[in-house]
Amino acid sequence: MKENRKSKIRFAVMGGTFDPIHYGHLVTAVAVMDEYYLDKVIFMPSGNPPHKMSRATSDANHRYLMTVLATTTNPYFEVSKAEIDRAGITYTVDTIRELRNIYGENTEIYFITGADAILEIITWHNVEELFRMCFFVAATRPGFHGKDMEQKLNEIKSKYKKEIFKIEVPSLAISSTDIRGRIKNGKTIRYLLPEAIEDYIRKFNLYLE
Ligand code: NAP
Repeated sequence: MKENRKSKIRFAVMGGTFDPIHYGHLVTAVAVMDEYYLDKVIFMPSGNPPHKMSRATSDANHRYLMTVLATTTNPYFEVSKAEIDRAGITYTVDTIRELRNIYGENTEIYFITGADAILEIITWHNVEELFRMCFFVAATRPGFHGKDMEQKLNEIKSKYKKEIFKIEVPSLAISSTDIRGRIKNGKTIRYLLPEAIEDYIRKFNLYLE
């Protein structure tokens, strides 16, 4: 028991809008868990990210509930409402700081999100503090982000002396944007996300506009 209490807690925070959550996100989370021997993944639907002024995201409660529904069958998945409940603009640095306070210093945190978002990380709030507090995993589909991504990751590495890990997940060919477009155009979304999420979307008439 003593040993267990002393050993490091290792988990990932899966950051994203999840509008809606789909199989690409779920496969990415298990792939990262597997790759880095993590204890669990905490899904963190975003609240008011600073860069999302251009497209109105769906109601945060819908995004949160869909995330809960999609993750319920995996005992190693949790969902946090921390960003949704936090007032004002949500910065990842505040989220990670909060988690470090809860879990203590003997914790290794991996922040997973899409490569497009991570490639803009130098513009994020308090990026240096973020790099001190957690590791980053950029998720992409094979062959999608080529030399440009490598170059940008190298630039970040030489500037901040921190490596951003990359994971290629074939199911990330599925995208929330595509799913929303399909619904709007009356096309099927079957097999792109869990059935319970499709039922939820239909029940609340999401993404029709
Ligand atoms: P986004 O622009 O909506 O997504 C960028 C790309 O990444 C999309 O192709 C998206 O695909 C994909 N993606 C998003 N989350 C993913 C995940 N967890 N796994 C795999 N692919 C994912 O980016 P966002 O969702 O708003 O932001 C991503 C995260 O970065 C959020 O947690 C956000 O709070 C954080 N962020 C923080 C700051 C800051 O602190 N200043 C600034 C920007 C972003 P789908 O649409 O299919 O998901």
